[in-house]
Amino acid sequence: MKVGNRLTIYIIIGLVAGIIIGSVFNLMSEQAWVQWIDQYIFNLVGQLFLSMIFMMVVPVVFISIVLGVVGVGDPKTLGGLGIKTLAFYLTTTAIAISLAIIVALVLQPGEGQSELLDSSEVEEYRETELEGSTGEAIEQTFDQTIINIIPTNVIEAMGAANMLQIIAFAVFIGIAMIAVKDKVPGLIRLFEEANEVVMWIVLAIMKYFAAIGAFGLVATAFTQAGFGAIQQLGMYFVCVLLALFIHFAVVYGSAVQFLAKKSFLWFVKGFAPAIGVAFSTSSSSAVLPISMETAQNNLKVKKSISSFVQPLGATINMDGTAIMQGVATVFIAQLSGVDLTVMEMATVVIIAVVASIGTAGVPGVGLVMLAMVLTAVGLDPAAIGIIIGIDRLLDMTRTAVNVTGDATIALVLNEQEKRIVANGKVKA
Ligand code: ASP
Repeated sequence: MKVGNRLTIYIIIGLVAGIIIGSVFNLMSEQAWVQWIDQYIFNLVGQLFLSMIFMMVVPVVFISIVLGVVGVGDPKTLGGLGIKTLAFYLTTTAIAISLAIIVALVLQPGEGQSELLDSSEVEEYRETELEGSTGEAIEQTFDQTIINIIPTNVIEAMGAANMLQIIAFAVFIGIAMIAVKDKVPGLIRLFEEANEVVMWIVLAIMKYFAAIGAFGLVATAFTQAGFGAIQQLGMYFVCVLLALFIHFAVVYGSAVQFLAKKSFLWFVKGFAPAIGVAFSTSSSSAVLPISMETAQNNLKVKKSISSFVQPLGATINMDGTAIMQGVATVFIAQLSGVDLTVMEMATVVIIAVVASIGTAGVPGVGLVMLAMVLTAVGLDPAAIGIIIGIDRLLDMTRTAVNVTGDATIALVLNEQEKRIVANGKVKA
């Protein structure tokens, strides 16, 4: 079974139909029958699809990382790959947020809009959200993030789908399997066979449910948010989209063309199914099995590289999210009549990059991280209430950028490794 071009077309049709029908339904969202269809058709189909792919995340990540480590074969090579992956991820995220700040400073989305700050949404957000998750996230300090990478209870880590902890445990198991390789040929085979089974399920979900699931998720998102919500915050919306597009086309485009030495068009075409699913699910974690499969089959990234680099990216690399945070911080500063200093902007870059490390790729998490960033530069995190209404629509686009970033780095590292191996052979 393979994810082919036809599936990409079906997913695109699902997305476009979802946007159009959802936007029309949004205009009639008061009608009882519209609400019924939204709940029992769009949402039901979408959530079923989402649950199915979420079901595969933990098994795919665990099994494929163990196999990835065994495939790399040497813990030192693995360490080298780990450091390179981290360096690429942190650099691209820092570029992303800097780019976002520049776009927002040039286009000034918050100028002359100060009346938005009195919005009742701010108060609502302060009452409901800030007490809960945001408060917890602010307390998550850097050292805790690092300590939390090692699970004290692996079953709990898997139960909570804590990606970094699962990765850490899988790396330990993989290294141990290399160490006692001769004694456990059966165990290695078992992992290989289990991998065949889980990947078959991922492909079947993609083949039979991706297009309709994407339609359902997008249709319900647009029925609830609609284009109308964008109007008031139009400039903010445009700035985020523009920065996302520049990052996608210029940063990923150059990385693919110049570092991986591949055509960017070929890359986008090959990776399109994963981009489509990321857009509809708004979750890099959920789309992970699909983005790994797509990178391995369509972009020909080696399994050992893809299965190490992409799961790591799904949690620690969120360029799209960083872009939203950069634009939103400048936007909220402008609304509040605050001029951010260069030091404060540097703080925004650092906090956003560090915050992305321990945060899972699930819908809406970017807003929680934004609360941290705003607090760090002395802005009122309750101002998030202003942008919350349209965040779901932006979440789709930034998640698509997040997963494209992971695949870009996986491809770059794959091509670099191929060249190193080829050079080694020439010398030998
Ligand atoms: N939904 C995003 C992701 O999963 C995170 C966010 O920006 O909220 O990558």
